[in-house]
Amino acid sequence: MDVTALGEILIDFSPAGSSPQGNRLLEQNAGGAPANVLAALSRFGRKTALIGKVGEDEFGHYLRSVLVDNGIDASGLMMIPEASTTLAFVHLGENGERSFSFVQNPGADQLLSAKDIKEVGDLLIGQSSVFHFGSLSLTHEPARSATWAALKCARGHGIKVSYDPNLREALWPGLEEAKRLILEGMRFADIVKLSVEELEFLTGTSNLEQGSRQLAEEYGLSVVLVTLGAEGSFCRRGGDTCLVEGITVKAVDTTGAGDAFLGGWLHAYLEANKPETELSLDELRNMLRFANITGALTTTRKGAIPALPALETVLELYKE
Ligand code: ADP
Repeated sequence: MDVTALGEILIDFSPAGSSPQGNRLLEQNAGGAPANVLAALSRFGRKTALIGKVGEDEFGHYLRSVLVDNGIDASGLMMIPEASTTLAFVHLGENGERSFSFVQNPGADQLLSAKDIKEVGDLLIGQSSVFHFGSLSLTHEPARSATWAALKCARGHGIKVSYDPNLREALWPGLEEAKRLILEGMRFADIVKLSVEELEFLTGTSNLEQGSRQLAEEYGLSVVLVTLGAEGSFCRRGGDTCLVEGITVKAVDTTGAGDAFLGGWLHAYLEANKPETELSLDELRNMLRFANITGALTTTRKGAIPALPALETVLELYKE
């Protein structure tokens, strides 16, 4: 296995115009950042697996089929009768920014437990090159303990850990608690991907050099990636940093761009096939460029997984 991820997988309902009768229509899509990252990787030919939980309901079956259709190993996706699949309703703000309301009582994804990890950990995480996680699974127990157990398993097997905190304020009981747990998650990570807003939230500064150094030094991170929307992205590896401009595209929907970016970066990292400490600055720049193109192309189509580009399309632009 190249990359195993742990985390939420849910259904997003997004506004999709109105019916002829004037009723608001909603479009149903698979959501959840870890699954998006895996889908990007699997589109590039990587072997991926997701560990998560869904309800034994229509939505859970749909999500399993989305994973399978996207070439993601779903043997670690547990389907349980005692809870429903988590649903998220997407609200579009005046400037197209998205916010979410979640329906969870709790949702099945939050019921993933440390015991579940015992059953699939060694088999899936233990045999991977990279273990990836986000922070929605840290918001509530027992999924929080499951995440710690999975991280210990990854560490125990000497596997690289990738982390996208992907702060969704609405899901946390409080912001101080969110910060504390997100930073605790960082202690297990090697590679961390943040937005500038997240960098500022966690370090108190939006200065890329300063904020990334603070995190890398304090939490022993080997790579800090910061996404900058249309401007491109930034990378710190040890004392080296680089910023690579984004490519120009006509963006129609930025959903999943950050996940696609990280999927692209991890693909380039696996392709390089050497420890991150041995990557040259040129290699680091090229990896950011590959990831930028993957993220940018994802903004040119609607949705997250359906908008992911094919490897050939990324390579055509990458070679220019
Ligand atoms: P997130 O905030 O979800 O982490 P971003 O919106 O910053 O993600 O997008 C991730 C990456 O995708 C960016 O770093 C950039 O490389 C690319 N990207 C996003 N939006 C655009 C855009 N409008 N034009 C070009 N590239 C973009």
